[in-house]
Amino acid sequence: MRTITEPAREIDVIHETDVLVVGSGPGGLSAAIGAARAGVDVTLVERFGCFGGNITAVGVEGFAWYRHEKTVDTEGVGREFEDRAKATGAGTPEPQSDSYALDAEAFKLVADNLVEEAGIHPMLHRAFAAPIMDGNRICGIITESKAGREAILAKRVIDATGDADVAYRAGALTRKTPVEEMQAASVMFSMSGVDRKRFIEAVKADPQTYKDWESGEWTVETTGKEDAMFSPFLRKPFEKAMEAGVIPAHLQTISGTWGALYDSGDLTYLNLVHLAGCDGTSPDSMTANEIEGRRQAMLAVEALRRFHPGCDGAKLRNFGMTIGIRDTRKIEAIYDMTELDVREQGRFDDSIGIFPEFIDGYGILILPTTGRYFQLPYRTLLPKGVANLLVAGRATGGDKVSHAATRNMMCCTVTGQGAGVAAALSVKYGQELERLDIALLQAELRRQGVRLH
Ligand SMILES: Cc1cc2nc3c(=O)[nH]c(=O)nc-3n(C[C@H](O)[C@H](O)[C@H](O)COP(=O)(O)OP(=O)(O)OC[C@H]3O[C@@H](n4cnc5c(N)ncnc54)[C@H](O)[C@@H]3O)c2cc1C
Repeated sequence: MRTITEPAREIDVIHETDVLVVGSGPGGLSAAIGAARAGVDVTLVERFGCFGGNITAVGVEGFAWYRHEKTVDTEGVGREFEDRAKATGAGTPEPQSDSYALDAEAFKLVADNLVEEAGIHPMLHRAFAAPIMDGNRICGIITESKAGREAILAKRVIDATGDADVAYRAGALTRKTPVEEMQAASVMFSMSGVDRKRFIEAVKADPQTYKDWESGEWTVETTGKEDAMFSPFLRKPFEKAMEAGVIPAHLQTISGTWGALYDSGDLTYLNLVHLAGCDGTSPDSMTANEIEGRRQAMLAVEALRRFHPGCDGAKLRNFGMTIGIRDTRKIEAIYDMTELDVREQGRFDDSIGIFPEFIDGYGILILPTTGRYFQLPYRTLLPKGVANLLVAGRATGGDKVSHAATRNMMCCTVTGQGAGVAAALSVKYGQELERLDIALLQAELRRQGVRLH
């Protein structure tokens, strides 16, 4: 490949902060709020025009669809997201669980308000471009935006980009799932004009279950207790559309779940398009899959219009603002979570919070219907190879199956809040992140309403 040398240049330091959070999904938003509530200056950098990450930019609304009567759930800022959404009309009862689905659009405002109330310095429309390093110590970032390249200096940095962009470019050890094993990417979409009454009558007349997720394309390992439980799942309309020649025979992967159906006729969080082999760290791969995903989504819309009662007068409402990526880089952390930890109630002295026994991914679906849960250790946020950096959200350290649990949004709020509080205390008390006083960290997390044990 041909190369060029980019000339060195002086750039402005436009901002200095105690804790800098890069990326504002469930992980980053929680990190920024946790750090601010611990009493330091916090800055939140986001490449898009809204906070919320996959919730708002992709349209992932099923925030706690795993929750059932006996679930022992996370407590902390994630629960606040759900409660706040519910209280402000940005949440609606979720059809398969004891939870509220977040309204992807209205949650943009919820996030704005949370950021403002916490006194966080917001910096939207700036993408992380490069780390600023002092040896192996990160001390800020360079951003790229309409204003060109700019520098932000920070006492501590939190990488909440989902893809470990900061950690990777700063030289931390990271792993990427091989492309052929990556969880599929999805172009999410919503429809309007659905006749709610007729749609729900059809769902009730032929209720689908988690067992129905299984097909020639997908296997689903459960514990057995999940099999007969109701799932808002759709495959039959697409099978009919295939028989009618509306969907080509090779597209067996069009099927999946719907999220919320409003009286207004909006049917949202349609998780029906699954694109295997999409590498979320390759713009070329994402370009091809955005375009292919939109094409497949329109086939799904047409199939629903023709073959699902209540959808005949419906149309596409919107696509997610960007393709939904589930699986890319993860850091090698001081402690990498294991399959055993998430399957067998892992316990840790340096717990920063709990998450119920909910595993969803790589062909496994286990729902937390029993009260079992695992703890998350602080060490899973600490990348090997770079100092002064924590990682929150879906890129924390762990093996493949552990990520099928920790990638879930509520779990990302646990690692986020843990990272934010840790970074803040590390600044306040002048302690290195690797040597942070865990009792101090746990006391502040408890004060912020986090359940640790
Ligand atoms: C289609 C789909 C369906 C899913 N369904 C569910 C579900 O039902 N329930 C559930 O719990 N989980 C679900 N997940 C998983 C969940 O959404 C993610 O694992 C979770 O959002 C990860 O949170 P995060 O904060 O780590 O990253 P993200 O939510 O991805 O947020 C990362 C943020 O960082 C920003 N960013 C990235 N790079 C840069 C950069 N270079 N500079 C500046 N900003 C940057 C992004 O714009 C984004 O705002 C789903 C995922 C997908 C894709």
